[in-house]
This record gives sequence, C-alpha cells and structure tokens, in this order.
Amino acid sequence: MIAAFLHDIELYGLWRGFRDLAKKEGPDADRLAREADAIREAGFEVLRNARSGSLYVARNAEVAREALSLEDRELAGGDPEARRRAIHRIGHLLGYPDCCAEAFAALPRQDDAFVMDRLLAPEPPASLPWLLDFLPPLVGPVIHYPCRLDCPECLQRATRLVDAWETDVPGTRERLRKDLSGPVLAAGRLDFLVLVGAMDGPERATYRGFRTASDYLPGMHPTDAFAAFLAKLPPEGTIEVRGMGALARDASGAVRAVMHGYGPRPRLLDYR
Ligand SMILES: [Zn+2]
Repeated sequence: MIAAFLHDIELYGLWRGFRDLAKKEGPDADRLAREADAIREAGFEVLRNARSGSLYVARNAEVAREALSLEDRELAGGDPEARRRAIHRIGHLLGYPDCCAEAFAALPRQDDAFVMDRLLAPEPPASLPWLLDFLPPLVGPVIHYPCRLDCPECLQRATRLVDAWETDVPGTRERLRKDLSGPVLAAGRLDFLVLVGAMDGPERATYRGFRTASDYLPGMHPTDAFAAFLAKLPPEGTIEVRGMGALARDASGAVRAVMHGYGPRPRLLDYR
C-alpha cells in the first residue's frame, strides 16, 4: 500500500470507494506525480492536465479521462449551461453530495472569495459538528465547498468516511477531532484561525492559542489583509466579530488587531 492512500483524506476516500476520482493541484500534484508509477502499479490511473497542472487519480481510466476533458470544458468557458453541467459532473465524480455539487455549479462564479462570501453571509448556526469543518486544507472529511455550513448530507458522508478511516488507522478520529474542533474565525478560504479556546457569546471567543492555514498545510497563505491582522494578533486574548469586521484584544482587554471590510463578512463558527 502506498502511504499516501492511508494518510491523505482524498486518496483514502478513493481507495475505499467513497469517491471515483481525486484531484490534486499545485505542490500536492507535483508530489503525487513523483509517485505516479507506484500508484499505477496499485491499479489506479494517473493523468495530468498539461493546461492546468491538475493531477487526476481514478481507479477507472475512463473516469480520469472524463475528468480531464470536463476540466478543459470548464476552462474554455463559453456556453454557461454546458459549463454548469461540467462543474456539476466533476463534483459528482469527486464524491461531493449532489446538493453541494449542484449549488456550486449554479453559482455565477466559483472563485474562493465569491463562494466564501456566499457561505458566510447568512447568520451561521450556533454550533456546528467538527466533522464539517472544511477550512483547514485537506485535513477533514469535507474537502469541498458545502452547499451550506451545516449540510446534512455532508455530515452523513463525513461520518461514514471517518468511521472507515478509524478502522484502518486507529486514532484517526481523535486526531481529526483535535485538529478540527474549536471556535473558528472565518473570513476567507485561507483567511481563518482555528482557536484553542471557547465561545463566550454569539460573536466573541476567548482563546489561548490558534492555528492558521499554513500550520495545517505548509505553503498555504492567507490574503495580505488577513496576514496583517495575524501579525498583530496577541498569542492569547479574545476575538470579536462586529458587522463586516473583527477585532482582537489581549488578556488585559486592549485592542491589538483590527480588520474591516476587505472581503467576506467574518464569522465565528463554533465547531464542536
Ligand atoms: Zn450539500
């Protein structure tokens, strides 16, 4: 068994039949490309789209070829209805619930800022199951944009996937629970903080530590605006969201970091 299949949520899902296809991009795709021969020997097809750099892994060669041509169709733009169908179909092959694949495909734009803005605009539920924390990149069982923060179909699938993973790699559930639970300040795809602490009101959390996108996956960086907020963030204190902004106070109550209105409305999401 190739180690990547046991320790990568996406490849694990592919190996165990939770999805027909895995798609890797950027440095992840480069890493996996180096293992392509071993992956083929294990019975999978590996194809890379020369145009986008995306790397596809599937058990069925036809699925990998279809994904490649669907991506080309998506990149080509043109007829919006054909583009919508292509995005929906890719989501289906990647194992996303139909509600999420449909919702994502129906958006006028699929860029991160737009999608996050749409997800964070409505008032979030008071708490959310940690299994649904999709923000740390490629950590939890939800690796796509859900149709809503508390999508029930995602929760069902995430539960099944983590149950299986726990059986194959004991200790996985606890590791994930630690990585994914806690209040999360979310303001963009990589503009987030997972706080070690607790909510102490609907829009306020007290924390004694935090993790950022690059703590989960090196090389993942937030926007400059969020990085500027992070640079001033005290190691412990409180975070409050107010309208389109957020502010952080140190333990003495002094305001140390402020961000305001540069992207999606920031939210504190209580994953537990
Ligand atoms: Zn959904």
